[in-house]
Amino acid sequence: MKLNIALLKGDGIGPEIVDSAVRVLEKIGEKFGHEFCFTPYLIGGIAIDTVGEPLPEETVNGCLRSDSVLLGAVGGPKWDNLPGNVRPEKALLGIRAAMELYTNLRPARLYAALKEDSPLRPDLVEKGFDIMIVRELTGGIYFGERGYREGKYGTEAYDTEQYSRMEIERIARAAFEAARVRNKKVTSIDKANVLETSRLWRKTVHEIAAEYPDVTVTDMLVDNAAMQLVRNPSQFDVIVTSNMFGDILSDEASQITGSIGMLPSASLGATKRGLYEPIHGSAPDIAGQNKANPIATVLSAAMMLRYAFALEEEALAIENAVNRVLDMGLRTADISHGEEALGTKEMTEAILAQI
Ligand code: NAD
Repeated sequence: MKLNIALLKGDGIGPEIVDSAVRVLEKIGEKFGHEFCFTPYLIGGIAIDTVGEPLPEETVNGCLRSDSVLLGAVGGPKWDNLPGNVRPEKALLGIRAAMELYTNLRPARLYAALKEDSPLRPDLVEKGFDIMIVRELTGGIYFGERGYREGKYGTEAYDTEQYSRMEIERIARAAFEAARVRNKKVTSIDKANVLETSRLWRKTVHEIAAEYPDVTVTDMLVDNAAMQLVRNPSQFDVIVTSNMFGDILSDEASQITGSIGMLPSASLGATKRGLYEPIHGSAPDIAGQNKANPIATVLSAAMMLRYAFALEEEALAIENAVNRVLDMGLRTADISHGEEALGTKEMTEAILAQI
């Protein structure tokens, strides 16, 4: 296959970790006979500094023209005091909207080799867990009507949660499809005892469930889900939820794995072209020091091969290489416990050697 990949390196450790993933993809290309063409575009703080806006039109057009997009991370203290519409993070919402990426897939799994990093009790860690969080990404309260108005007690601010049946149907389908190739269990999370949007969510998810008789679906209230994730995470297979609940719960799920530098994500739309990125931020505290863990970005590249290009064998080659490196006891600083820490480049070399 010949594939064009847009690279959005961004800020902080973004360039270092994207370079690692590019090297891994190049090795996969050599081994399996694919040609990957990479084109970098500006995003985030570096785009503000260079052209005065966080998401230049050229970047959007470049991403729309490409076969898939690999993103590092954006943001940093340098841009923290800019107004909301020119902050680096604005580019993330912008690119998701422009590419119509309404599904966010965030796997949270506990690596056997990294069990001691989990903050959970040893008996829970022993059971392990492997959860796929499917978060709705372009609707709900983050995109609803908002503003200020004069109320009974003076100035008040408001944000509005809204979901259409269509938006819920398509995210539910994404969750059921994901469950089909996993353990065939979907937990739909809402706040149906309080919110009207959640009642429509629940009803619609069950309607779509009828199309997937091989998958079981259960409902859970979001407050209970927050507890269950730390009480008994192994009960979950696929979780599907709204934009804001998914934002919060996926961060909680990532924390119980104990290793933020290990977790990839995929954002998909109708075309599955998608955008792939680590879940962590730009880590300005370690930027440019060859200290960043590249694994989350490398695993994001593996997700790209699987979801954008249906290259399952190639995706597994990357995931198995990462597993082997961890089993060999090789660690970057963020996941080391006394072992000598490898730098970003050395960890990348170690992964390449296992492909
Ligand atoms: P962060 O994820 O960047 O860093 C949190 C901590 O984890 C830091 O100590 C950092 O050094 C460490 N860390 C993160 N990734 C690591 C890696 N790959 N290897 C080793 N250590 C790693 O979160 P933050 O400090 O809250 O945010 C920093 C900046 O990133 C902010 O400007 C924030 O807005 C931005 N941010 C961007 C994204 C994104 O681009 N998707 C997501 C979250 C935060």
